[in-house]
Amino acid sequence: MEIIDQIAMIPGRSWGSNVYVVGKGELALVDSGLTGDFRSHFIKDIESLGLDPLNIKKLVITHFHPDHIGGVLEVVDFCAAEVMIHEIEAAYIEKKAGFNVQVKLKDGDIIPLGNMNFKVIHTPGHSPGSICLYNAEKKILFSGDTIFAYGVGRTDIPGGDIIELKKSIKKLTELDVEILLPGHDVPVIGNANENIKLDYSFVESLSNDY
Ligand SMILES: [Zn+2]
Repeated sequence: MEIIDQIAMIPGRSWGSNVYVVGKGELALVDSGLTGDFRSHFIKDIESLGLDPLNIKKLVITHFHPDHIGGVLEVVDFCAAEVMIHEIEAAYIEKKAGFNVQVKLKDGDIIPLGNMNFKVIHTPGHSPGSICLYNAEKKILFSGDTIFAYGVGRTDIPGGDIIELKKSIKKLTELDVEILLPGHDVPVIGNANENIKLDYSFVESLSNDY
């Protein structure tokens, strides 16, 4: 499903993450879903968008949970894309998941995806190296599992931290966002600032022992 020119969303299968395809010629993916789904479904899904999956050059991972990194090896085998993930999670990933990370991201890095530049925003809380990607010109935010259209990422898993999550989501309320592209469930197309504010008031209402 095309969200806007240059960005399409492939909805997550089962509990797998959404996968976003950015660009028209040279392509980038944001997240990779569950193991097996790239080979069995996403290649065809990308082709049916009129795009060539062999042109995937970059794979940005919003955080290291298995429902986001499951497809990394399949993508790398298929088209030798460069893998990009926050530096905090890169070492763990290389050891546990058995693939190399070519680009270790830091807060404030600018990465070109399609014909747009995205700023890396480190948003720990759901996981220690969670990132969001923001394009100020078009007011687009890829939010991983930090926030959703209606709700926030869980913190009751190893590496989760509710206090960090609150701080991270507060940072997101300071952005101007029209289009919110989360790691799961539906995107928000138009006036996503409202959703982010609601997500923040929800997370603020949670106890720090949550
Ligand atoms: Zn997650």
